[in-house]
Amino acid sequence: MSNIEQQIEAIASDVTRGEAGKVDREGAFPRGTIDALRKSGLLGLLTSKDHGGLGGGPREAALVVERLARECGSAAMVTCMHYAGAWVVEKLGTDEMKKQVGAGEHVLTLAFSEAGSRSHFWAPVSTAKKSGDKVALDAHKSWVTSANHATAYIWSSQPVEKEGMSTIWWVPAKSSGLNPGQGFDGLGLRGNDSTPVKAEGVTGAHMLGEDGAGLDVMLGTVLPLFNAMNAACSIGLMEGATQAACAHASGTMYAHLSHNLAELPTIRAYLARMRIATDQSRFLWLEAIAAMEQGREDTMLRVLETKASAGESATYVLDLAMRVCGGAAFRREVGVERRFRDARAATVMAPTTDQLYDFIGKALCGMDVF
Ligand SMILES: Cc1cc2nc3c(=O)[nH]c(=O)nc-3n(C[C@H](O)[C@H](O)[C@H](O)COP(=O)(O)OP(=O)(O)OC[C@H]3O[C@@H](n4cnc5c(N)ncnc54)[C@H](O)[C@@H]3O)c2cc1C
Repeated sequence: MSNIEQQIEAIASDVTRGEAGKVDREGAFPRGTIDALRKSGLLGLLTSKDHGGLGGGPREAALVVERLARECGSAAMVTCMHYAGAWVVEKLGTDEMKKQVGAGEHVLTLAFSEAGSRSHFWAPVSTAKKSGDKVALDAHKSWVTSANHATAYIWSSQPVEKEGMSTIWWVPAKSSGLNPGQGFDGLGLRGNDSTPVKAEGVTGAHMLGEDGAGLDVMLGTVLPLFNAMNAACSIGLMEGATQAACAHASGTMYAHLSHNLAELPTIRAYLARMRIATDQSRFLWLEAIAAMEQGREDTMLRVLETKASAGESATYVLDLAMRVCGGAAFRREVGVERRFRDARAATVMAPTTDQLYDFIGKALCGMDVF
């Protein structure tokens, strides 16, 4: 096991597992996990060693997110969004930003989705308008994970003056004119603190990359890593649920028959299907990461496939986990119903599964994807 794997194993089993129930019940931010990541240096995982980080890449980030997701979907999603933002900073940020991120001084997130263009993150309708020597941002962001806990948002808007679909910004969370909502009250990932954020005349943002070049950043920098980490969330949830369902089936007795649930062939067959679907997703995920590392021609296809495949498989595997564990699955202590709820989000997080199917289909037919 690498050093990073040992560190995340310790955090996931000593901290994340312990707070997962409270995070879900109370909709609490996974503070213990984020503090432990900071303390271990893992918040700065993607920052180069020159800037004080650990110098990791997409593989390490995806492994961290997968391990956390086995214990707590919310902690995994918050970490996924932080790393997505940190990766943009690593590619396009100032030295000062990189040093701060490398030192673990920031919790970052993506603020791409908007009330106007909804899941079509590539087409922001929010604006960045010049007023004198300043630029003012106005927006109605629809979903921002960690909205009330982030220190800076990686933000999209229409370009200031150049052609193009978007421009990317670093927006300090304390900027005046920024208004995050009251926290998240929803079905799953209950601790992810994803809320709408309004911006009215926000100044002091720092442009990341060129004005008008946001789509290249979204597709070239964010999407491959984000898809690999979002798939990691789904795979971790499947892994956690499969292990919990096996433990439940092996440890639950029919007293009048003197055998356990696992003696039923139907139950064993469901567990086998869960294992197969989880492993299929894992192999495609590892293949997508390998394609990214090797700069292969099939990289974009694989990163589109891995999020769609893992997201859909997670809903299938979690449905089966609920079936295997019967009525007991409806109780929190079995550890299945929380993952069942958490697993639903990936399919509608942009790029949504339906969009991914469309993009993949277009690519297969030689059509332009965007
Ligand atoms: C828990 C959670 C956390 C999130 N965190 C963040 C975050 O940190 N930052 C951020 O920017 N966003 C975030 N999002 C937003 C997410 O990425 C999506 O933008 C959002 O879920 C889309 O919801 P919507 O209601 O706007 O979807 P809609 O756009 O209204 O989509 C509704 C349905 O139409 C389908 N659809 C839409 N377009 C197409 C198409 N072209 N082809 C086929 N089907 C299509 C969709 O797949 C979906 O099933 C988060 C979402 C969730 C659920």
